[in-house]
Amino acid sequence: MEVLNNTTLPDSADVVVVGGGFAGAATACFLVLRGVRDLVLVEAEDHFGVHASGLNAAMARQVTSDVVTNEVLRASVAGITRTDGLWAEPVEVRPLGSLLLVGPGESPLLQAAGEAARAGLDCRIVDRADAVARVAVLRETEFDRAVFTASDGVVDIHALLWRYLGAARAGGVRPAPGVRVESVEVEAGRVRAVRTTRGRVACRVLVNAAGAWANRVAATAGLPPLAMAPFRRHLMTTPPLPFVQADWPFVWDTVHEYYFRPEVGGLLLSPGDQDPAEAGPVLRDPRALETLAEKLARHCPRLAGVPVSRWWAGLRTITRDGRFAVGWDTRLGGFFWVAGLGGHGMTASCAVGGFAADLVAGRPVDDRWRTAMDPMRLA
Ligand SMILES: Cc1cc2nc3c(=O)[nH]c(=O)nc-3n(C[C@H](O)[C@H](O)[C@H](O)COP(=O)(O)OP(=O)(O)OC[C@H]3O[C@@H](n4cnc5c(N)ncnc54)[C@H](O)[C@@H]3O)c2cc1C
Repeated sequence: MEVLNNTTLPDSADVVVVGGGFAGAATACFLVLRGVRDLVLVEAEDHFGVHASGLNAAMARQVTSDVVTNEVLRASVAGITRTDGLWAEPVEVRPLGSLLLVGPGESPLLQAAGEAARAGLDCRIVDRADAVARVAVLRETEFDRAVFTASDGVVDIHALLWRYLGAARAGGVRPAPGVRVESVEVEAGRVRAVRTTRGRVACRVLVNAAGAWANRVAATAGLPPLAMAPFRRHLMTTPPLPFVQADWPFVWDTVHEYYFRPEVGGLLLSPGDQDPAEAGPVLRDPRALETLAEKLARHCPRLAGVPVSRWWAGLRTITRDGRFAVGWDTRLGGFFWVAGLGGHGMTASCAVGGFAADLVAGRPVDDRWRTAMDPMRLA
């Protein structure tokens, strides 16, 4: 991929996208597909996707408690897996399915699952026996029922990110890693330019896809923060385990908030921790290992004591209401948010990128999506 250096960063561009994770890469990709080609994608790190977008659990989950978010997730998985020629290369999605464990009684998740099924998603409620037949280690686990979604799965996240970046580049986008936006220049109530570590780029539109740093980028434009914040979450992997079957669906206990899935002969697991954090380098906390051990011992005893071979942490940026923040900032002309993607940004990237590009390009969008994701509800 062509990489911009000091001499090639342009003086001006129609659109500057800030952030080279899933949010920025997918938006740049779809802007190009919509015909917006005078675009620069800047990423502070020397490589793309090193933060949340490279550190996530790679699970495509299409059922949450929120009906509109589920529509976005469904559309996105359909977009990621489509094979009608839009994408040059297929991205591997292992269709393992998913089991979301739930307790007794009705819950918003079950209602949303019902709604998703009526809309055509291959999800259904299964009883304990069915769930245990699929994943034997759930035999002593406390849960009442589970939502099984057959088309959920595990995505090759690096291939997906590079698909967006590759399509953007093929359409003329100049990706610029190692370039940090330091401030946003404003004139007469509009974005006028970004000042970067490699100089000033005048622009008409700034797409703020800076993940955990999005409020900081906005602050340099004089904008008060949106109601969203980064939270740290840990992931762990085990060495190969003889009892793990590579075709298990991923299991998410929505009552006790931990999850696991097959990963190269062993498991990838999360204790479901969610601690407030600062945007920046993420330090691991050994207490997360204890939390995982305690949750497994108490809620999934057949996995108690599994050895951990590797563990890491990343930041999920979560909005006050859990919905994404994608849209124009009406307080400052030309300032556009693609942020607050929480724990679903990889799965949602295809639909979010397309939706964001439609808005930036002035194309019609679904009004329900516009309202649900309007960043101004968080201002
Ligand atoms: C542990 C964990 C597990 C997860 N599991 C899943 C999962 O299974 N499925 C799923 O769908 N999602 C999952 N997620 C969520 C998903 O990873 C995120 O929603 C998604 O990656 C967010 O993408 P992003 O582009 O908004 O942020 P990021 O990937 O953080 O990208 C933002 C980029 O902006 C850059 N940047 C910041 N400031 C500047 C600046 N001033 N100038 C230039 N560049 C800047 C940063 O360097 C960064 O690369 C998980 C997240 C974590 C942490």
